[in-house]
Amino acid sequence: MTSFRLSDDHEQLRATVAEFAREVVAPVIGGFYERGEFPYEIVAKMGKLGLFGLPFPEEYGGMGGDLFALCLALHELARVDSSVAITLEAAVALGAMPIYRFGDADQRARWMPEFCQGERLAAFGLTEPGGGSDIPGGMRTTARLDGGDWVIDGSKAFITNGGTSITSLVTALAITGRLDGRAEISAILVPADTPGFSVAPEYSKVGWCASDTRELAFAGCRVPAANLLGERGRGYAQFLEILDEGRIAIAALAAGLAEGCVDECVRYVGERAAFGHQLGYYQGIQFKIADMAARAHAARLAWHDAAARLVAGEPVKKQAAMAKLTASNAAMDNARDATQIFGGYGFMNEFPVARFYRDAKVLEIGEGTSEVQRMIIARELGVGRTATSR
Ligand SMILES: Cc1cc2nc3c(=O)[nH]c(=O)nc-3n(C[C@H](O)[C@H](O)[C@H](O)COP(=O)(O)OP(=O)(O)OC[C@H]3O[C@@H](n4cnc5c(N)ncnc54)[C@H](O)[C@@H]3O)c2cc1C
Repeated sequence: MTSFRLSDDHEQLRATVAEFAREVVAPVIGGFYERGEFPYEIVAKMGKLGLFGLPFPEEYGGMGGDLFALCLALHELARVDSSVAITLEAAVALGAMPIYRFGDADQRARWMPEFCQGERLAAFGLTEPGGGSDIPGGMRTTARLDGGDWVIDGSKAFITNGGTSITSLVTALAITGRLDGRAEISAILVPADTPGFSVAPEYSKVGWCASDTRELAFAGCRVPAANLLGERGRGYAQFLEILDEGRIAIAALAAGLAEGCVDECVRYVGERAAFGHQLGYYQGIQFKIADMAARAHAARLAWHDAAARLVAGEPVKKQAAMAKLTASNAAMDNARDATQIFGGYGFMNEFPVARFYRDAKVLEIGEGTSEVQRMIIARELGVGRTATSR
């Protein structure tokens, strides 16, 4: 029987991050968001708090925690702002985690300490302009061995933390050959100052406006053969493992956004009046907020369950996909309802619920779209295994 109560350590972490989000992030993040500016000062403070090292061992300067601890931090940050939350999620769950999981001793020793401190960020380059869901089918980036180096050619799309001034490394997935007629995919570490590697200007985005998202280009980009991460040809399997964890982390972020909508609305309906009463007097409003709170609760339980299973070493593919689907649905529904409750103010960028509305949509897209989550869940249930296409 699993207990959903937080341990004392986890509760202390949750409270610390909640206070940080309230005191440090909330007062200034709206300005960064409007300017489309990466919040270096906030990221540096998150680093000092130890957030970038949460799931990593102390020998690398980490906090010795686990994915559950990271998810708690993401949840509390996203209750206030998703740009800083996704910066942390992408840097840790997608950026540093593959090096910790699959890197050799030299690679870990070289990269993990600076990532754990948050002084430098790593990015994960999987998606390509030609397709994100259909990997490996849509992959075109190649890497070939030449005189003891990998030479990489291709491009990656929508890469979080791809081009900040503190990004020091990108893990790129590339086709390194063919095996039994199939693309052989490997993961290769590309330091950001490698000649032939370049980043495009920031995309203009609907949401996550204070996070960094770039297209990356590799043109005859040459790195030592030793920059192969894990085994040659295991890149796709590694990426599936990383994405299971990433989905739980995104679920935590989405649950945080869903809960942030509740926080904002509970406060607002006690202040705003219409027809002679506070908004909270009206049952139509009460019911909306009750539904929002129930969705946020279900979303929290979904990621708690998936993260706890992962930490216990149990298979989580189905639970991770269900958590991401449940939580991103909750985030979208709550953001829509919160904006409605705020009326015209909900459409004004200076109010957090407007940011929540703009930030919620991408949760149904990144790290596997909702359709991809449904495919995974159906496959795990054995649905369609015997179906034939006509
Ligand atoms: C802000 C942002 C940050 C991101 N950060 C990163 C990052 O750091 N690293 C990285 O590698 N990627 C990143 N991504 C990419 C993201 O993971 C992809 O956008 C996502 O996986 C979807 O891929 P796509 O955009 O190519 O859509 P497509 O794969 O082209 O899908 C288009 C639509 O078709 C649907 N679809 C596709 N196949 C099927 C099918 N068989 N059945 C039913 N429906 C289907 C999809 O669900 C979707 O609705 C980021 C994206 C965004 C927007």
